[in-house]
Amino acid sequence: RTCEDEFKSLGNIRVYCRIRPFLPGQNKKLSTVDYISENGELLVVNPSKQGKDGHRMFKFNKVFGPAASQEEVFLDTRPLIRSVLDGYDVCIFAYGQTGSGKTYTMSGPDALSKEEWGVNYRALDDLFHISRNRRNTISYDIAVQMVEIYNEQVRDLLLSNGMQKKYPLCHSQPNGLAVPDASIHSVKSTADVLGLMQLGLANRAVGATALNERSSRSHSVLSVHVRGLDMETGASLRGTLHLVDLAGSERVDRSEATGDRLREAQHINKSLSALGDVIFALAQKSSHVPYRNSKLTQVLQTSLGGQAKTLMFVQINPEAESFSETVSTLKFAERVS
Ligand code: ADP
Ligand code: MG
Repeated sequence: RTCEDEFKSLGNIRVYCRIRPFLPGQNKKLSTVDYISENGELLVVNPSKQGKDGHRMFKFNKVFGPAASQEEVFLDTRPLIRSVLDGYDVCIFAYGQTGSGKTYTMSGPDALSKEEWGVNYRALDDLFHISRNRRNTISYDIAVQMVEIYNEQVRDLLLSNGMQKKYPLCHSQPNGLAVPDASIHSVKSTADVLGLMQLGLANRAVGATALNERSSRSHSVLSVHVRGLDMETGASLRGTLHLVDLAGSERVDRSEATGDRLREAQHINKSLSALGDVIFALAQKSSHVPYRNSKLTQVLQTSLGGQAKTLMFVQINPEAESFSETVSTLKFAERVS
């Protein structure tokens, strides 16, 4: 029984909703989340409207409430991640407005605190653990790439300058590379990954006025390439895991945004709707999947569709002021699930 069997019943596209807790100082009385059920239903309400009018019901494969821990979220994601070691391609996205917890889910607030690690560190840690357990039968090689997509341009985040520690470049390039030109680095341990991610984050901040500013307007894609060689039969396999922290999905007021800000907003809008269109087409089993409409979907093309598996974390901020963004986020998710 492979990891894949465990998860088969859920299909190739799944959507988990995660609601972040109120942060210190926020008004907890005015929550847009009215009810969460065990089987993935979510009832949201507009706290400023009286009566039933403001209520809307949504349904997902799973809903994680504000109390859900990083560990709990990971446990429901792990079988999908492990299927990469059986040769599957997997894409995991975090979608939502800025401040809704995308980075918290994917990376966590602090790489140094293991307890708070998000999906990406836990995933790598788990892949190393399983590959060590299988070392007598299958020999695995793991390598990573990390790029940022900003204004429809792809930038390598792992090019170290002279000041930083160098990470070994992987010599044999695996197939199906997300971005063939981006540097690819062999990793042997979770410590290697932590080091590379620090480098990626530092590079991401370059040229930005504030880290938050830039990171909310670009997509970051961490790609984990796995190659396995069965030492008895000589058979080989490849799998790739893409972990994507998307740009903030919030609508920008056209009357207010101008110049660079407007251009950024248009690029984000275009790529998020292209992503939605691709996942929608895949969910409908449509014969035409419009991958060519954005850099993001082009970069991920070989890992979206076919046998590949997709998980979207839909992130919600429970504050009353976010009600209309929350509804538009949930509608996006409803369309692709
Ligand atoms: P985004 O990446 O979507 O802009 P962040 O992940 O930066 O949002 O989250 C915004 C703030 O909320 C951060 O301070 C983060 O630490 C906090 N936060 C988000 N999700 C959670 C959670 N599940 N538990 C505790 N704090 C969270
Ligand atoms: Mg973020």
